[in-house]
Amino acid sequence: MHRAREKDTDRGVFRRHIGPPHDFSGDLICWKCTAPMEPVRARTHMGAPVQARYRLLDRAHDEACPLNPDTVTDRIAAGSHGLADVDANGVLRLTLPRRLDEVRQRGTTGKPSLPPAVGTAAMIAQFLQLHDYEPEISSRFRVRPYDGRLIPWTDFCYGPQHDSYGRLFSRLRATPVLTHPVAVMGTVERVSSDSNYSPFVLLAVDVPSRAGRFHVTIRSGFASLMEPLTVGTQVLAVGGWEIFAGGFTPSLRLWTDAHWQLAFWRENEDGASGPPRCSDPVPAEQQTSERWRKPDTGTNRTAHPPAPSRQATPPHQPPAAPEPAPAPARPDSPQQVGDAPPAGPDVVEERHAAASAPEAMDENRALRRHNFVPRFLRRQRNS
Ligand SMILES: [Zn+2]
Repeated sequence: MHRAREKDTDRGVFRRHIGPPHDFSGDLICWKCTAPMEPVRARTHMGAPVQARYRLLDRAHDEACPLNPDTVTDRIAAGSHGLADVDANGVLRLTLPRRLDEVRQRGTTGKPSLPPAVGTAAMIAQFLQLHDYEPEISSRFRVRPYDGRLIPWTDFCYGPQHDSYGRLFSRLRATPVLTHPVAVMGTVERVSSDSNYSPFVLLAVDVPSRAGRFHVTIRSGFASLMEPLTVGTQVLAVGGWEIFAGGFTPSLRLWTDAHWQLAFWRENEDGASGPPRCSDPVPAEQQTSERWRKPDTGTNRTAHPPAPSRQATPPHQPPAAPEPAPAPARPDSPQQVGDAPPAGPDVVEERHAAASAPEAMDENRALRRHNFVPRFLRRQRNS
């Protein structure tokens, strides 16, 4: 953990207080309970720097401590509407329904609520955030995509560390469309808008990777879904993440149409977060009036990819959209990252796994060209 408390003075201590020499005195305890803690100095592990941190000394967190993995996993599973359970080793397994919004919250509070699959994922993300995404804690969570095998949490949810974003970027370069929805966690770093005044947010800018730099962006045809995502807001965005390569710098991008794809919250000064929330659903009138922004692909982009069918692999079908005249993608200004309609439908098998990255990129470009709507055409649609 990145913080602890001096037992005698209650003073909060952080990474920067770990020495040598240490900038604290007396015994240390958890910043949320009475469990004794000890500092661990910064070091390198297999050539990579490992940050200083605080760890439990000789016993677990108090039962009511929000950092206690045993009680928190039990509580998250109990509130998951049957989507999660905890195995004998204390590992929480979250099963994704066929459609992420398939299972509804019980009870009506009047407020828009996240579907349990996304709400549960957001609760897990919040818990891992409290633990600074320590691998040991992350390993206590696994995800079973619909009809799929159990995968590590870190193969379902990426970020906010740059190396984690880099793993998703590499994965999507090799396999442009995944068989299961992916979640990306981050903090809104910048809010921008494209040449159509359509707002979008950036969770990370110029992330370095072996394949070059990229941004992490969330876009929507509906401005109301972007409005709550102000700078500093924590977001878990779930859906069909893809690589958009139309700007100067490529982007890891989620094009979202449904309010429940974006769970967000803000951290207070004490490091505590409120419950994850979502926007109001997009009103039907707005969906009609803003329809021009989205390519009419005949597919429902609010759905995550359906159950992978292992026996009958449906080949990727280009969308049955009125085909615009193909036009070469021209570089946009740096402010216009991700400025284009989404590339291709969500519905495809993860069939590119064996393809080399360059081949996969060619396919990605072809998909994009197929769906590319020149800007002038989009303006016409708007007029
Ligand atoms: Zn504690």
